[in-house]
Amino acid sequence: MNQQVFNFCAGPATLPQEVLKAVQQELRDWQNLGVSVMEVSHRSKPYEAMAAEAEQDLRDLMHIPDNYKVLFLQGGATAQFAMTAMNLLGKSGQADYIQTGIWATKAIKEGSRYGEVSIAGDCTENGFSRVPQQSELTLNPNADYLHYTTNETIGGLEFNYIPDAGDVPLVVDMSSNILSRPIDVSRFGVIYAGAQKNIGPAGLTIVIIRDDLMEQFLPFTPTVWQYKNHADNDSMLNTPPTFGWYLAGQVFKWLKRQGGIEAIAEINQRKAQKLYAAIDQSEFYSNPIDLMNRSWMNVPFVLADESLNAAFLEQAEARGLLNLKGHRSVGGMRASIYNAMPEAGVDTLIAFMAEFEQKNW
Ligand code: PMP
Repeated sequence: MNQQVFNFCAGPATLPQEVLKAVQQELRDWQNLGVSVMEVSHRSKPYEAMAAEAEQDLRDLMHIPDNYKVLFLQGGATAQFAMTAMNLLGKSGQADYIQTGIWATKAIKEGSRYGEVSIAGDCTENGFSRVPQQSELTLNPNADYLHYTTNETIGGLEFNYIPDAGDVPLVVDMSSNILSRPIDVSRFGVIYAGAQKNIGPAGLTIVIIRDDLMEQFLPFTPTVWQYKNHADNDSMLNTPPTFGWYLAGQVFKWLKRQGGIEAIAEINQRKAQKLYAAIDQSEFYSNPIDLMNRSWMNVPFVLADESLNAAFLEQAEARGLLNLKGHRSVGGMRASIYNAMPEAGVDTLIAFMAEFEQKNW
């Protein structure tokens, strides 16, 4: 394809071009070994060194304190819905969850299979347009954890604060906004994220877990699903997703070259603000989310005349603006503008939207 394309897919999502080129260049001969990184043992010296460096880069980027383990696992965020519950419900057997949309619902459903789950806050009533604020939460002080989804990828709803649950550890699904802006890791018990948005390819799942939370797993928890076993073995209990780990390491280095999370956050904010401004200024496009909870990463919007959806998508694609179709459960459009989406991609989308509006309204 000759035309430059911008891929707005929600995940697996666009990766930095610079990273893809570097990977391509060393694909068949990694570190002068004559083989690709996919073909070496995860226990070999070069692989172990690369893996440790990737972890350190992530620690640097997120300022992860020493009393947290970083795990490189498989199974996606969906496996984490079960893994968090199995590993943490061994004390009171109770957990609080905040209901914010489709991904939170899945976590709640899975968590409920292993313990007594209460809904500490719920945005069903406001149509998932605003997250419950601290004063609206009903918290159980005996809960083994409070779970929430920091960014609802489908709804485009993002937490604008970190709930205070006292001594109850916060367990968060950060799949779609990890690394997008600075966060204070020490406020959380467990952070998990599927890699395929801001980190790397699908098949890798990152878990950041506080040391003291690894001993309260339910007795039946399979060996391969115990955080402790993975931590004790530096994520090499079994063969890890080696290519994903390597690619994630490349993305971490790219992020460092951009100036780290602090620098990328400024760009992310600017990208999101200009896209929302374009939507708000028009009578043709709209986004229903409360201003304070609008996601920087996933921007859903609908057209005033839904019968134009197909034409919008077709013409966008012809311009190289790919995968703007909203999730099948909500319809409309969604532009996912993760770290690797260049600002030029957002500018091109905004220009196209204005042009389409002019022609059709
Ligand atoms: N949580 C969130 C917030 C997500 O966006 C997704 C995937 N889109 C998932 C969980 C599920 O992730 P996976 O497919 O990696 O299991």
